Amino acid sequence: MSSDMEKKKYTIATLASHSALQILKGAKDEGFATCAISLSGRASFYKRFPFIDSIISIENYTEFYDREKELKTKDFILIPHGSITAYLGPDYGNRISIAHFGNKEVLSWEIDREKQMEWLKKAGLRVPKVYKNSSGIDKPVIVKMFGAKGGSGYFIAGDKKQFDKKISKFADQKFIIQEYIVGTPVYLQYFYSTIKKSVELMGIDRRYESNVDGLARIPHNMDDEFSVEPSYTVIGNFPIVVRESLLPEIYAMGERLVSASQKLMPPKGLYGPFCIETIVTPDQLFYTIEISCRIVAGTNLFINGSPYSDLTYGIPMSTGRRIAREIKEASKEGRLSKILD
Ligand code: ATP
Repeated sequence: MSSDMEKKKYTIATLASHSALQILKGAKDEGFATCAISLSGRASFYKRFPFIDSIISIENYTEFYDREKELKTKDFILIPHGSITAYLGPDYGNRISIAHFGNKEVLSWEIDREKQMEWLKKAGLRVPKVYKNSSGIDKPVIVKMFGAKGGSGYFIAGDKKQFDKKISKFADQKFIIQEYIVGTPVYLQYFYSTIKKSVELMGIDRRYESNVDGLARIPHNMDDEFSVEPSYTVIGNFPIVVRESLLPEIYAMGERLVSASQKLMPPKGLYGPFCIETIVTPDQLFYTIEISCRIVAGTNLFINGSPYSDLTYGIPMSTGRRIAREIKEASKEGRLSKILD
């Protein structure tokens, strides 16, 4: 079979949400058939886009599992994104058997805060100090309730006294106490290619969060009139270009994270798109607050490529398109099993 035939055989599919437009546009640009699995109420929206060849309508997300058998009979490859974990459940990897781009084992390391911390430390990434209990609090902290999403259920305390006062509202909840890093949030979007064995920087963004970004607009002398806790609900994203002198460190961080994953989750480790969420201090130190081991919504800024992807490819290369290209190249070389799980 010619490589062209082999490539045409596959349909790239994803749940119609999050970064589906980017993923399916990228797949079409690389020559694949595409399918959106959409809640029926949203299907007419996704029909607007000519790069989506077919739409499978479902009434609710759990119906995905019933329809999966149907997808398996065709040559579908499922691309995971944030809504897949959110709506199909964090254990979706154990429940599906359709070809899936990405190592499912990585999911359990991403979800479990303690395992994620072990991985970050093994990769030599700088992380905020974590306090075992409140007695050690010696600087401003951010307190994160387990299961809090989008930063709601977080609070900031300047010292132990403030912590004691604020924690009383969260009786019986599990939480972690983390050093509060004062700096600028910088989200690093990468792609690790198993085929090329290289880490690529796809783009950089920061989030536009409500209400914390609005609080910054309130003049200091009115602080007392606005005594509100910050929340971190993501409303959108801004693109960032960083000082060029920071780029070598950024590439090294991505490489170390991948290399540690290959030791912790052998043999495949982390591959495909991932994001390191950092806060950068005035002395230009990167503190990693979290990682996401799949395409992140901030990549939607760069459907037409980013300054960094342009340096590598010279054509508009979104993360969605990069995924499709990896599948195409693996397919050509008969190495699809290396990137599908
Ligand atoms: P998501 O899962 O969508 O990434 P989340 O609910 O897990 O979000 P985080 O990404 O951990 O939330 O953090 C939400 C916000 O809190 C971010 O804007 C981040 O900048 C800020 N933040 C988190 N940890 C720290 C920290 N240690 N120091 C300073 N700011 C922090």
